[in-house]
Amino acid sequence: MIGGWPMRRMMMPAFFLAASLGTPGAPSAVAAEEAITIAGSTDNLVELASRVQQAFMPVEQLAASLAGIEAELALATAEAHFMQALHAVEPARSAWREVAGLAKQSGDANALMRATEQQAEMTFLLSDYAGASTLADALLALAKTNHSKIYEASARGYHGVIARRRGDLDSALENYTASIEILRDGGDDFQLALMLGNLGTVFRDRGNFARALELQLEALAIRERIGDHLETSLRNIALLYREIEDTDNSRRYFERALDAVDRRASPERYASVIGSYASLLNDVGEQAAALAAASEALAIDTGLGNRANQGLERLESGRALHGLGRDTEASSQLEIALEIGRQLGQHEIVARALLSLAEINHQQHNSLRARGMIDEAIAGLEAALLRPQLVQAYAVRERIALADHDPETALRYLRRYSEQRELLIGTRASRQLGDLQARHARAEADKDLALLQKDNELQSVRLGKQGVERQLGMVAMASLGLALLLFAWRLHGIRQLNSALRLKNDEIDAKSRALASANLSLEQRASELYRAAISDPLTGVHNRSHLRELIEKRIERCVRTNTSLAVLLIDFDHFKQINDRLGHLYGDRVLLAGVASMRECLRADDILGRFGGEEFVVLLEGHRADSAWEVAESLRSHVQHSLAALDTNDIAVTISIGLARLGDFSDAAQATVDALLDAGDRAMYAAKAGGRNRISCFGSGTPTHGDTVDA
Ligand code: GH3
Ligand code: MG
Ligand code: MG
Repeated sequence: MIGGWPMRRMMMPAFFLAASLGTPGAPSAVAAEEAITIAGSTDNLVELASRVQQAFMPVEQLAASLAGIEAELALATAEAHFMQALHAVEPARSAWREVAGLAKQSGDANALMRATEQQAEMTFLLSDYAGASTLADALLALAKTNHSKIYEASARGYHGVIARRRGDLDSALENYTASIEILRDGGDDFQLALMLGNLGTVFRDRGNFARALELQLEALAIRERIGDHLETSLRNIALLYREIEDTDNSRRYFERALDAVDRRASPERYASVIGSYASLLNDVGEQAAALAAASEALAIDTGLGNRANQGLERLESGRALHGLGRDTEASSQLEIALEIGRQLGQHEIVARALLSLAEINHQQHNSLRARGMIDEAIAGLEAALLRPQLVQAYAVRERIALADHDPETALRYLRRYSEQRELLIGTRASRQLGDLQARHARAEADKDLALLQKDNELQSVRLGKQGVERQLGMVAMASLGLALLLFAWRLHGIRQLNSALRLKNDEIDAKSRALASANLSLEQRASELYRAAISDPLTGVHNRSHLRELIEKRIERCVRTNTSLAVLLIDFDHFKQINDRLGHLYGDRVLLAGVASMRECLRADDILGRFGGEEFVVLLEGHRADSAWEVAESLRSHVQHSLAALDTNDIAVTISIGLARLGDFSDAAQATVDALLDAGDRAMYAAKAGGRNRISCFGSGTPTHGDTVDA
């Protein structure tokens, strides 16, 4: 179950038990078909439910006339439970509505709250979010009047789940936090684990993986203790690992979740695990297995009437079919998912379906449709701030703009893509860093403990030694002869003590050495991680965010000390042609060679960073900034000549450079990072407009080029 409340105190769902005789665990097409057969018997289920209702009716009337309203209430409650046990969601909802009416008449507040909660649960299962939200409001009001913390937590939980499904993560976060606060104060462990898991999912959506993992692990620990719904936590952790691209761990947790859930006893829980597993299988390119898993889950959820899960499962089927090259079937699955998402107002389903459909349309050169869909998807994802999907959407948008020959839009989305991706990678790096720091702190504490223990041992050895000495003194007074004998014994004892001390000292030395080397390697690893977080993965130069920090510091220093500062915005000319003709990988090699050649013209104090795509920035200070033009000219000509040796199919590799100086700004307060980069960018565009392979200064009119070889 993705978010709703469990039907945990219920009987075995008989119709699933009777029909699903396949082996649980591995997804298989046979199992899927079998489940479809079961789902096909929904008519029988409705008939069974209505017969049960007919059977209950005269008994209820009799009970009412003989034993009064309490007996009628008890019987109606039994009927509602029975419907729930049959997984007959719609009849169970009406039965709980009847229970609520009777509870109101008899003034039984507890029964009324319980019936309202169960109505909300059934309404939620039927994916009627507006109805569930109204019932949750009613439950909250009842809980407040009756001072029931447990039902207050439950109502808040429903609001949280509904808010997340509608893409309102702020409200989901607020409601879950409130619910957890109440439950920590002496609530039901089962509900607490559920809320912790749900809150973890919101943090995952926001890209805060460290906090998400912490919450999911706490939920898992509680569920392990009470031995209930383990698979929900295991599945949530698996999804988390999937998000941070740790597919090995993700797969391991999915397999543990599948082991933990009983497919026959809890088909709805099994379906939600296998359905999510399909998403990982799609990510790692195992589309056939993904399709089987998604179809199996879809068949079960169709039988249960869970529309929201059906939407997610159609989405995964669509992705799998697209991967298998069956685009017509893929489109129809995705269209259904889109329709379900729109009906339920569920942002994530709508946006992801649009994303996949846009990719298919783009590949089929239906650019107009692709553009409309991706723009709608981006608007939804930006509103909900679903970071991982947003990165993917920007990349698709950039590709579409390139195919449309609209480089300006492509550049805009490439920038957004790298910004979001960097934010995600940043969180991943800091998550690992946090992990390392925790291990480092633990190693430190262990070291202290070990030293303390050794100290204690030494102390007790010393005390023992003093005791021996005291005894010897007394005995020496009593008898000289005996003293001599004892003296010999004492000597022996001291020798033994000394050798024991030596051994202990050696042991401590060895432990200290091992700890020192462990600390050293931890520190090395931490500094490696830091380097990775500030560098561009392809070229190794400073990445965009670090570059901005460096520029900001230099501006501040140069303004304060009245020193010159210059920035060069460098863009490779006609780079798309290189990619188009020689392939993207070869394009990467050209970028690497270009960076190596630029480095040869730069000094240790000059700063080189990647601004994004094939744009680079050089920062010069002091007398280097005074001769910025000469530096730019040496970069331009050195890149042109040294890259002429590359086999680029007769395309000359050249760069255009925009030069801007801090001195271009009359007022120091205007000299911000953005203003300086913007000035460089404009100069660079002037160099492009002037024919490329040349340098242009900000504010100096026509660009020039310092070489006779024109691009
Ligand atoms: P212009 O002379 O006007 O700059 O033409 P251009 O073709 O270089 O146009 P633009 O700067 O707009 O496009 C840059 C291209 O560089 C588009 C993009 O696909 C490609 N690119 C961006 N980043 C990378 C990368 O990391 N590797 C490779 N191989 N290509 C990249
Ligand atoms: Mg370019
Ligand atoms: Mg460019």
